[in-house]
Amino acid sequence: MQILYNSTRGLENNVPASQAILKGLASDGGLFVPQQIPELDVDPDILKGLSYKELAFEIMKRFLTDYTDEELKYCIDHAYDDKFEVPEAAAMHDCGNVCFLELYHGATIAFKDMALSILPYLMTTAAKKNNMSSEIVILTATSGDTGKAALAGFADVPGIRIIVFYPKDGVSRVQEKQMVTQKGDNTRVIAIRGNFDDAQTGVKKMFNDKELQKELKEAGFEFSSANSINIGRLVPQIVYYVWAYYQMVNMGKIASGEKINIVVPTGNFGNILAAYYAYRMGLPVNRLICASNENKVLFDFFETGIYDKNREFILTSSPSMDILVSSNLERLIFEATGYDAERSSAYMAALRTGGKYEITPEMKDKMKIFVGGTADELETAEVIRKYYNEKDYILDPHTAVGAAVYEKYGKLTGDETPTVIASTASPYKFARSVLAAIDKKYDEHDDMTLFSDLNSLSKMPMPKAITELFDAPVRHNTVIDIEEMKKTVTDSLMKG
Ligand SMILES: *Cc1c(COP(=O)(O)O)cnc(C)c1O
Repeated sequence: MQILYNSTRGLENNVPASQAILKGLASDGGLFVPQQIPELDVDPDILKGLSYKELAFEIMKRFLTDYTDEELKYCIDHAYDDKFEVPEAAAMHDCGNVCFLELYHGATIAFKDMALSILPYLMTTAAKKNNMSSEIVILTATSGDTGKAALAGFADVPGIRIIVFYPKDGVSRVQEKQMVTQKGDNTRVIAIRGNFDDAQTGVKKMFNDKELQKELKEAGFEFSSANSINIGRLVPQIVYYVWAYYQMVNMGKIASGEKINIVVPTGNFGNILAAYYAYRMGLPVNRLICASNENKVLFDFFETGIYDKNREFILTSSPSMDILVSSNLERLIFEATGYDAERSSAYMAALRTGGKYEITPEMKDKMKIFVGGTADELETAEVIRKYYNEKDYILDPHTAVGAAVYEKYGKLTGDETPTVIASTASPYKFARSVLAAIDKKYDEHDDMTLFSDLNSLSKMPMPKAITELFDAPVRHNTVIDIEEMKKTVTDSLMKG
């Protein structure tokens, strides 16, 4: 069965997967959505015996139908190799009543490595398949983790340049250090004076700027996106939810066919949308629990059916979830309208102009597999302390938001369905917040000391991403205003 992709805004349809991946965003500003979600029609007895790579192949070939088996296997083999510091690309940690799906063992110790280690291969393969002659320019806005994961994935990939924008005061020190020390002749890292939404809006504007695209095309460049709006990010993320499910079967936590809950610490709604796609493929799911920090726009949305970004933007200890416009929600909205591009475009237009829209009760009903939850800074710190004291396990602040939301959900509903919580970052990436939650005495320690503190508390080996960081020289130090984003891009490309 061939799967083609349609834009959520209705003006670009029947696009093959490889072209949707090359473009990133559709030319009408919409997001590419598969015309249908393929079924995972494989015997569970077979699925539970597959390696991560084998499972990745089974899932990805059902979505990316214009790639040959050989092409997909090549991409998968090169992506999920010894860049990951565990035997398979992900790992499970059993905490009794819940399991944590650790997605942070890749090059930049956050879950975005799971997709961004394969996206460059999917993209260069797609460029070849489509006889593309222009150089691809990856333009990315990051709340901290995407940027570094994309830089690591795309550095020195022939035929590709990458430009990353991040909010100067909106990322952790480790995140910033990781980005500004990035190697590779094809990389640019730029700080903006603004928040993540400003960066993301600026990048989206350039994607919709036809003049700019024409000018660049003449100079031999074409934009693409490594953000989670790219369908090539979303599809690889489906894999680990199915993998986690069969790990739970193999661990004796569930019987094959039994339902699970999946908790996902959420920002741009990409990771949890992948879990939803896994469910739509046939994975037995009871509830998808969407966990937000104090920027709880999604929690309010699932409660009321009203999406309203008109509120204060709060900087929290989980910066990768400090987001008020969750781009990937557009895909769910489109689906809930019954693939009605006109209606879903109208919602997005309302969001752009008034910052707000309200869905119908029928649409809300179609989303009832989702439950929203929110945890504030105190609850997040408390759960970090509690897991450390009671389970001898250290959570990063993002994962802790998930764990805190899950505890509140359990108390409220009494639901005892076996549950997996997506663990989206290594505690090493947010060592200062993590240790501050455990004991005030760490406040005085410098970054280097904090890493060894964490090393002795957690008994988790220090990841390469951390040990490499310290002697690395700073290679990027540009800081600009939001208005200068476009000029910075053209200057950087035209002047080499
Ligand atoms: C990006 C990120 C998230 C949010 O994921 P979305 O796909 O944007 O919802 C959560 N935690 C960490 C550590 C991240 O890097």
